[in-house]
Amino acid sequence: MQNEIVYLNGQYLPLSDAKISVMDRGFLFGDGVYEVIPAYAGKLFRLEGHLERLGNSLKSIRLQNPHTPEQWRNLLTKLLKDGVDQSVYLQITRGAAPKRDHAFPAHIVPTVFAMVSNINPHSDENTGLKAISLEDSRWKLCDTKAITLLANVLLRQEAIENGCAEAILFKEDYLTEGSASNVFAVINDILMTPPKGPAILPGITRDVILEIARNKNIPCSEQAISKTNLKAASEIWVTSSTREIIPIVELDGEIIGNGKPGSVWKTFHKLFQDYKQSLR
Ligand code: PMP
Repeated sequence: MQNEIVYLNGQYLPLSDAKISVMDRGFLFGDGVYEVIPAYAGKLFRLEGHLERLGNSLKSIRLQNPHTPEQWRNLLTKLLKDGVDQSVYLQITRGAAPKRDHAFPAHIVPTVFAMVSNINPHSDENTGLKAISLEDSRWKLCDTKAITLLANVLLRQEAIENGCAEAILFKEDYLTEGSASNVFAVINDILMTPPKGPAILPGITRDVILEIARNKNIPCSEQAISKTNLKAASEIWVTSSTREIIPIVELDGEIIGNGKPGSVWKTFHKLFQDYKQSLR
């Protein structure tokens, strides 16, 4: 990151000059929402989908969208380097209030911030990552992309401390999602993922994978998956905008499939790369 140019409240400036008030409700309460949007060769990927989800997140926390889709596109595109694959992080908080009070302040201007980072998709065809299953300790608004991520942070840290890359979460023994990803499984030759709802973030990568499956007539299903069923899967993947599709080859110390990225993962990895390429 060093001293990249970032966007803050109407200005483009070096990261080290981007400052906000300690009274900002994002800092004091985690009162805000965010988006992470990949950009391939300088072109924002699935911007409409990301902005629709941003609109839903803002509605959920009762904050007005400060920009139109065209304004967002212009604002974010100015941060991108031509020809390079990157991702944009954007965050909107309720803004800085004169005093710390849980209730919404009467007159307040939202804080809008955006920065770019490099992306690091999983492209190694021969190795996958390990995951651990943990109880989903989060709240009931998991479909809101809120900056309030303490539960996700603690869950990811627990995974790391157990030598795993991701925590796969369960509510009452049913799969929800990863600490920062959606989860897919191949069970009885069908690609499955839990249905959308308040228990998961509606991932944009998830949408792309389901679209690819339906276009190619690959059997897929959005359905509840019990822990027992997940453990019997021949493949498990976690998906997100910055890491794309990651094969999980070990869950709770048990090998999944043959311990290598599976054939369905290989097919989808290639179809996903082809789809990205077609948009460049
Ligand atoms: N669920 C959670 C909890 C996440 O943090 C993410 C990644 N931000 C996802 C799912 C995947 O969403 P997307 O594919 O839109 O990045």
